[in-house]
Amino acid sequence: MNTHSAGRAPRGRKGNNRPQVNRRARLRGRRADICPVTGKVRWRDHEEAIQALHVAMNAKATARSYGVESRRNECRVYVCPACRGWHLTSWMTASGFGLTT
Ligand SMILES: [Zn+2]
Repeated sequence: MNTHSAGRAPRGRKGNNRPQVNRRARLRGRRADICPVTGKVRWRDHEEAIQALHVAMNAKATARSYGVESRRNECRVYVCPACRGWHLTSWMTASGFGLTT
C-alpha cells in the first residue's frame, strides 16, 4: 500500500509530499512579519524580498490581463534602517534610505 515513496521531509511538513518546498508556498505559509515603523511586510532577507516582489509583480500583471489596473506598484526592495528587515517599495529612484537591489 505504499504508493508513494516521498523522501523524509526536512521538517516534517504536513500535506507536502515534495522533498523540495516550493518558494511561493513557503512565502504563503509564512506568518507576515510587520514592520512597526513603516507598517509594511517585513522580509527576513534579500531573497525573500525578491520572491515577494515577483509575486507582487505577477499579481499586477494578472490583474492587468483582466483589465484591472492594480494599485500595487512595487518595483524595488530595500533594507529598512528601523527594523533591519527588507521591504518592497514603489520608488523608482534610488534615493532616501540607501537603496539596494
Ligand atoms: Zn522596517
